[in-house]
Amino acid sequence: MEMDFITDGLNVLKESNLLREFRIIEGAQGTHVEIDGKVYLSFCSNNYLGLANNPLIKQAVIDAINQYGWGAGASRLVSGSMTLHQELEKKIAEFKGTEAALLFSTGYMANIGAICALVSREDIVIGDKLNHASIIDGCRQSGAAFRIYPHKDLNQLESLLQRSSSYRRRLVITDSLFSMDGDIAPLQEIVDLVKKYDAILMVDDAHAIGIFGKNGRGMAEYFNLEGKIDIIMGSLSKAIGGIGGFIAGSKNLIEFLKNKARSFIYTTALPPAACAASIAGLTLIQEDKFLVNKLWENINHLRTRLSGFQNNITVESPVVSVIVGSSGDALDLSKKLYQKGVLIPAIRPPTVPPGTSRLRVSLMATHTKDDINRLIDTMKDTGFLTKKHKNEFNHAQTYVG
Ligand SMILES: *Cc1c(COP(=O)(O)O)cnc(C)c1O
Repeated sequence: MEMDFITDGLNVLKESNLLREFRIIEGAQGTHVEIDGKVYLSFCSNNYLGLANNPLIKQAVIDAINQYGWGAGASRLVSGSMTLHQELEKKIAEFKGTEAALLFSTGYMANIGAICALVSREDIVIGDKLNHASIIDGCRQSGAAFRIYPHKDLNQLESLLQRSSSYRRRLVITDSLFSMDGDIAPLQEIVDLVKKYDAILMVDDAHAIGIFGKNGRGMAEYFNLEGKIDIIMGSLSKAIGGIGGFIAGSKNLIEFLKNKARSFIYTTALPPAACAASIAGLTLIQEDKFLVNKLWENINHLRTRLSGFQNNITVESPVVSVIVGSSGDALDLSKKLYQKGVLIPAIRPPTVPPGTSRLRVSLMATHTKDDINRLIDTMKDTGFLTKKHKNEFNHAQTYVG
């Protein structure tokens, strides 16, 4: 009887088109995935470089398992700290251009652990409205005052900084690449504001690492801001293709988090083989630009193709947000594409604000131009993409006539 709220809750979700269900991928992750024995062209993973099923990475994992076994057996501070953890942390610090880095089991835990260690009741956190859920959860859990500014609104950020001088510490947090919109934070301006008001800056680089910057080192490299961001958070589960999160920054910061971040202290360390995968992934990105270049070719190709339509879809990164509107309409479009063999799930509230349900298209380096053309053609077939009128042509005709 007391459990009726669960059935009721599920019914409410279902009626408002917000119920989420699994689709089981039967083989490996890639540009094509198998569901119920049928092959679908997929545009929905964060595995931007295809490293989740890359032969070099798989071999590195197998070798590590043979040498180190599977589990880490304990928290890092008990007995779970192994050579591959240390090696990966060194690699991340080198890659991000910081003094040190600390591994967490996931990016989600890195955000929660770091934010809660850095701020508490006497402090304030100021963040972008579209920051990732793990940041929001960390802010809430920390007990600090928590204010958000409208997406990328620098005036509002400044105004919040001006009005928060009575707090002990002020922490500003932003995604570098927004995960559901695919757009880029104005990091240079944010760095300047944070400096002007003597606040602390934390940047979530989960979607930019491996992709942005001349050497794929992330958004700080892209904006030439390496060394100017106090705390960089990243994930090893997106472009790096595996599992794990990290915080990169000064030696002191890392020493502090080791001692204070509860989501680091009270959980078992990552399996060493998971570290081997990330070491191999980062090395591959450092040594071979082929995949990153291929990804950017795909991004540019999609941008060019979409520019022929009226829908005003912007493409700044491998994450392309195709806003549909209501949850029902987004589900409907996703279903139509699925029936034609293209997999792009609908993203709905609370992941995105109400009324902005969307298809989140994510590109991979291993997609071919034909895959992207098929995506466009299939979206056109559903009636969602509408061709631009040939205005220029009509004008020319008028004048010539
Ligand atoms: C995915 C993501 C995270 C969480 O990373 P995981 O390693 O998947 O836990 C944090 N922040 C952003 C912006 C993300 O997109």
